[in-house]
Amino acid sequence: MAFEGLSERLQQVMSRIRGKGKVTEADVKEMMREVRLALLEADVNFKVVKDFIKQVSERAVGQEVMKSLTPGQQVIKIVKEELTALMGGEQSQIAVAKKPPTVVMMVGLQGAGKTTTTGKLANWLRKRHNRKPLLVAADVYRPAAIKQLETLGKQLSVPVFSLGEHENPVEIAKRALEQAKAEHCDYVLIDTAGRLHIDEGLMDELRQMKEAVKPDEIFLVVDAMTGQDAVNVAQSFHEQLGITGVILTKLDGDTRGGAALSIRAVTGAPIKFAGMGEKLDALEPFHPERMASRILGMGDVLTLIEKAQAAVDEEKAKELEQKMRTATFTLDDFLDQLGQVRKLGPLDELIKMLPGANKIKGLANIQVDEKQIARVEAIIRSMTKEEKMHPEIINGSRKKRIAKGSGTTVQEVNRLLKQFDEMKKMMKMMTNVPKGKKKGFRFP
Ligand code: GDP
Repeated sequence: MAFEGLSERLQQVMSRIRGKGKVTEADVKEMMREVRLALLEADVNFKVVKDFIKQVSERAVGQEVMKSLTPGQQVIKIVKEELTALMGGEQSQIAVAKKPPTVVMMVGLQGAGKTTTTGKLANWLRKRHNRKPLLVAADVYRPAAIKQLETLGKQLSVPVFSLGEHENPVEIAKRALEQAKAEHCDYVLIDTAGRLHIDEGLMDELRQMKEAVKPDEIFLVVDAMTGQDAVNVAQSFHEQLGITGVILTKLDGDTRGGAALSIRAVTGAPIKFAGMGEKLDALEPFHPERMASRILGMGDVLTLIEKAQAAVDEEKAKELEQKMRTATFTLDDFLDQLGQVRKLGPLDELIKMLPGANKIKGLANIQVDEKQIARVEAIIRSMTKEEKMHPEIINGSRKKRIAKGSGTTVQEVNRLLKQFDEMKKMMKMMTNVPKGKKKGFRFP
């Protein structure tokens, strides 16, 4: 997980100052020395660190802390506010052209995740905002980039405009724009050609395309794992092309976080989205405040709720609730529910979004065994319809068959049946027990 080291160290520092009834200048100095080291170790740009420390120190020994009844907490609030400001303050939204389509050029070096992110963005626009995007395959240099985009388009049921790899990218972009207008698409996402390094040829071509299609957004896709290199790449692109935003990919990896914390301050370009995984729904709008909150171990409940809203089918949720109430919840429903939870993303990532999760012993480092969940799913899938409706009929020979069919053991089948039985008992108790008596019930 990104920011792990930084997060841990900052939280240690914060926990020491949190309860303090009085914060002296010496306290602030000492704390800032540690914060400085933590940021440098996280590969944050040297100058950015210097400015950050200066800003926080000034505020921390100022009136707002002195006069506060809880000075320790006040200092933490300042650190959070300044971290938020460092990453851009307010969330920066994607542009909407007055007259559609909104044209977005996706630029970046090879391997940064540009093509994947173009697909993710189309998915996000369509699913979350009901928009009609057109994907444009203009990366004619990287072998297979066009094919990759076409495959993504198919998976997402989003149209892809392509003229093969022998046409000039600027021409491709122009013609795509005409098609988008004719078909009333409201976003045109152009996957431009990447290179291994920044060179004049690349920049020339991108400038020509910019001139030809007059984009509303130029998003630079950079790999967060490359740290300060990502910041340098962003700076060059911004100087030579003028980007409107950055998309940081691979924030799910164990990057130390330097790129996320320095890019805005160094280049002035806002981070608009963050890539959080290889799957097509692993793209999140970048919220500086929520990110600061995650780094300081205060959780990110808002993102969690948004994920849940996007992933969980409301009709299904209602149906499920009804089944729980009437205790007619079957193994099939259980399977369904597992699937819904899995759609939210890796479970250990979700846990980290809960405020204070890091303080509950063992929870922060919990390794949710996704394979275990897959085994449970396999067991249920190996049952017949009748067995799923009435698990009490599952006798010894049926258990053997199910274990064989799912590649598991009879013990595992037993365990699942027992757990499911307990779950049903619990549902019965929850629904039958009069209100006042629920208190004594303990979750198994
Ligand atoms: P391009 O050359 O910039 O177009 O790069 P691709 O889109 O082909 O991506 C390069 C690799 O990075 C692929 O294996 C992607 O699956 C992977 N990738 C892209 N974005 C992310 C992300 O947010 N997280 C992770 N873990 N991998 C990513």
